[in-house]
Order: sequence, then C-alpha cells, then structure tokens
Amino acid sequence: MKTQTYHPIPGEVFHVHTYRCKHAGATTDRDYIEKAVELGAPRIVFTDHAPFPGNPFGNRMGIEQLPEYVETLSGLREEYRGKIEIMIGLEAEYLPSFAEYLHELKNDYGLDLLIMGQHFFELEPGRYSFSDEDKTEEYIGLCKAMTLGLETCLFDVVSHPDRAFRRRKYYGDDEVKFAKELMNTASFRGVYLEINYSSMHRKRQFWYEFWSLLPEQAMMIYGIDAHSVEDIEGGMTEYYKAMNIMEEDVQTRR
Ligand SMILES: [Zn+2]
Ligand SMILES: [Zn+2]
Repeated sequence: MKTQTYHPIPGEVFHVHTYRCKHAGATTDRDYIEKAVELGAPRIVFTDHAPFPGNPFGNRMGIEQLPEYVETLSGLREEYRGKIEIMIGLEAEYLPSFAEYLHELKNDYGLDLLIMGQHFFELEPGRYSFSDEDKTEEYIGLCKAMTLGLETCLFDVVSHPDRAFRRRKYYGDDEVKFAKELMNTASFRGVYLEINYSSMHRKRQFWYEFWSLLPEQAMMIYGIDAHSVEDIEGGMTEYYKAMNIMEEDVQTRR
C-alpha cells in the first residue's frame, strides 16, 4: 500500500522554503545549501509552498515558477554532489478538488517528496476555510482534511499537525478524538508526523498534549520550516542540542 520512498536521515535539514513563496527572506537557494554544508548536515530537503493551477492562493510560488524551482534545485543538486545531498519537494494543502493535480505534481515534476501542510481546507469546490468568519471548529476541518489527505498516499510527511489547534484554548475530549484519528491514520499509512521548530516558538501552535497521544508505532520527524538562513542555524542548533541530551540520557542509563 505504501508508495512513499522518502525517509529522514539523522542530522538532515528538513523543510526549507525559498524566496519564491513571497514570505521568506530574499536569500538564494545556494545560501540555504551553504549554511547546511557549514553545519555538517548530510542532506537538505527543500519543500517550498506548492502552487496551484490558476494561482488561487497567496503566500506561495506562482504555478509558472514551478519548472524553474525544480530546474534550479536540480542544477544545484548536481553541483553539490559529494558535498551534501539535495532533495526537492513541495509542501501542499490537501484539497479534494485538486486531487488530480496533486497526483500530477507528485509524479510529473521529478519531485522527491510531497509534504502536507494543511494551512486551510476546502469547504466545497472553490470555497475555503480562510473565508469562514467563525473559526471555532477550524481544527475539526483541518484534522479531517489531513486525515483524508493521508488516505491518498500522496504525502510522505504531515507538517506541523498540531498547528491545527492554534485557535484552541484548551485540549479536551474532541481535540483528543480528532488528533488520535489523524495519528492513527498516519501510523497506518506509514507517514511521518513533523515536530515543527517554527511552531515551537509560536503561541498555541505546538501542543504538548497532542504529542503525548502518539501511538507507539508512530513515525516522527523534526522539521525546521526555514524561511531564512537564520532559521536553519537556530533550528539545527536546537536539534543537535536535543540529540546530545538524548545521547547523554542513553549513556547515563547504561
Ligand atoms: Zn511559509
Ligand atoms: Zn512550511
């Protein structure tokens, strides 16, 4: 059933955006790669915000920029071969009306992976949750969209799944119910759930309550969600620190 080929490797820089998404630093792709090399990372995984046909959504590259994105990063992948591995992916919302397009995106552009970043969801074709005035049940729509998206086997990773609860003030039975459904589906489908560095530094985007529900067989990944070179520096420093702490923990328990 599982068709994904992507698996994280220790120390890699995962989840990097580029200037094309219009809300990242005006830095070049090369700057991100050079920073990853400097930090000694074995691999950098680009996952810029995916465009959709007709450019209906903001905060992402235009559909016309997609070939250039893949081509430029492919060129850099060749140039840096032997120094650092470069993977080319995209972060996309799962929107049922665009299912066919997402399949094309996954298969026809030579991408290494797709990650699901559910920043909003489809209410009905052409209408999206960002136009909803009442956002009290936003987390339900987001969780349901992600769970549905997981069933398509299009995605290798769910980015920041706990960000779905950003408008909640507490974590109750309903929150637990939808979180568990999402986690169990991800585990069943063999899809990674991303602990997102950027969420950790924003109010109500990182939910410890969510992560404490993880089933034993769940697959997790640490992602930076870098929108600047500084994000890579900060995120990887925290990651390496955490790895060291875990390493020490294992040592002292021996
Ligand atoms: Zn972004
Ligand atoms: Zn992202």
